[in-house]
Amino acid sequence: MGFEVAVEGRIESAHRIMEDTGKCGKLHGHRWEFNVNIEVQYALQVDANDLKKHLQEVLVQWDHKVLLKRGDPLAEILFANAQHVLLFDESPTVEHLAFRLHSEMCKKGYDVSAVTCWETSTISASYS
Ligand SMILES: [Zn+2]
Repeated sequence: MGFEVAVEGRIESAHRIMEDTGKCGKLHGHRWEFNVNIEVQYALQVDANDLKKHLQEVLVQWDHKVLLKRGDPLAEILFANAQHVLLFDESPTVEHLAFRLHSEMCKKGYDVSAVTCWETSTISASYS
């Protein structure tokens, strides 16, 4: 038993899911919202302001970018036209963004219990 400290972050980015033959396969954007929950054993174990700063350090790299899977032919066209593209090893689905943020925050030394990524106001995925 312990405590959980939670922080939120928001970005706007475009993506597409190459494998999807429907509307998610077309380039489109979202206002992504992220909740990061950190396990702590005692009060003030984690400085919430540091935690927010570390979350922003990750999210600023994703903000106002086109998130694509490595190998997506759209990436070359966008790079050639000076667009900001960020490539992922997996399709940048809501699930994978939650997973990726979880792993980035673990690398920063946090004991992450869960990351939830909201793609729309009614669709989210969590990784724990
Ligand atoms: Zn989408």
